[in-house]
Amino acid sequence: MSALERFIRYAEIDTQSDPYSGTTPSTMKQFDLARLLVQELQEMGIEDAWLSETGYVYGHLPANTDAAVPTVGFIAHMDTAPDFSGTGVRPRVIENYDGKDIELAPGIVTKVENFPVLKEYAGETLVVTDGSTLLGADDKAGITAIMEALQYLLAHPEVKHGRIAVAFTPDEEIGEGTKFFDLERFGAAFAFTMDGGAIHMYADETFNAAAAKVVFHGFSIHPGSAKDRMINAAGLAVEFAGKLPQWMRPEHTAGHEGFIHLTHMSGNTEKAVLEYILRDHDTAKLEHQKEIMQSCAEQIRQVYGTGTVELTITDSYQNMRNILKDHPEISELALSAIREIGLEPEYEIVRGGTDGAQLTYRGLPCPNLGTGGGNMHGRYEYLVVGQLEKAVQLICTIIRRTAERA
Ligand SMILES: [Zn+2]
Repeated sequence: MSALERFIRYAEIDTQSDPYSGTTPSTMKQFDLARLLVQELQEMGIEDAWLSETGYVYGHLPANTDAAVPTVGFIAHMDTAPDFSGTGVRPRVIENYDGKDIELAPGIVTKVENFPVLKEYAGETLVVTDGSTLLGADDKAGITAIMEALQYLLAHPEVKHGRIAVAFTPDEEIGEGTKFFDLERFGAAFAFTMDGGAIHMYADETFNAAAAKVVFHGFSIHPGSAKDRMINAAGLAVEFAGKLPQWMRPEHTAGHEGFIHLTHMSGNTEKAVLEYILRDHDTAKLEHQKEIMQSCAEQIRQVYGTGTVELTITDSYQNMRNILKDHPEISELALSAIREIGLEPEYEIVRGGTDGAQLTYRGLPCPNLGTGGGNMHGRYEYLVVGQLEKAVQLICTIIRRTAERA
């Protein structure tokens, strides 16, 4: 069985997660893939393959050397994004892609004009959708790469390696992929999430993140007799929003620039609520964003009264770079492995969070590697098969180099 065949088999299984279910896993159908993976791991010879009742799959490949090699781990997530349908995924393979627009279905076209990176994949084999679903390369390409790497190592005992830990998690797309992650059972010294895009990209930097909720309290009164008495909460919200620096919005920022993003608003004269997310790679700059929010709230209070604004700011997650910078050997390992498989590595600045960031803060250093997918979370998603195969090589190379360094 090839990596491509394996990927298609996983992609056809519907594993969409649901942010509103309140259960773990958020959808029972994620067990369909989880059970299959446990069965395949066991058939392969991973004897301790195990599925938790919360939908996490764990397994270990024992060391085949007596040297003191640290356990390295690889993690991928089983769910697909709630943003777009994952039911009835019918992957289509395009061999020797011509580098031009791809008609997924009549009238549904992946245009090179919108996704210019596609030109680079002329001559490659791609997997695309039929236009009615996402593909789920995010992150079934990651699962495929890990499974293929295990298969390769089991077939090639001459490649010496330490103990290898693998885990497949549910609900990453709804931000709960590490909620019940059992670090002790996983038992790795460090790990990699296989959940990125292009295969030469290495990501060890995420945002620092906070959420702000601003509640405005008005004084509602008949507008006909409101003079000098009414305080319109919805109006206060508009005033507050207008005070925030416009250049800090996501639509005006890129690279290392953080943002303040209004995600939700509701309100009337009596009460209004604004919800924001605050993001910056730099901890001090995130603190500065919080100060801006505080200062705008204070300005409203000074004009309309102390009880008119309640501002609550809560921290969400932190930049994993803050911790990973103290483990240069991990990035050195990953970057040298990317070079060994023939590519020039590039740092990716993740403008979001990753499961690895959460795990890093729980004590498991865990940067992110690419899998060859692109245009995630929608019908234009694709997978470059040659890059998926490189992801398998990348995992095997990291494993081999970890043993060589011991
Ligand atoms: Zn993902």
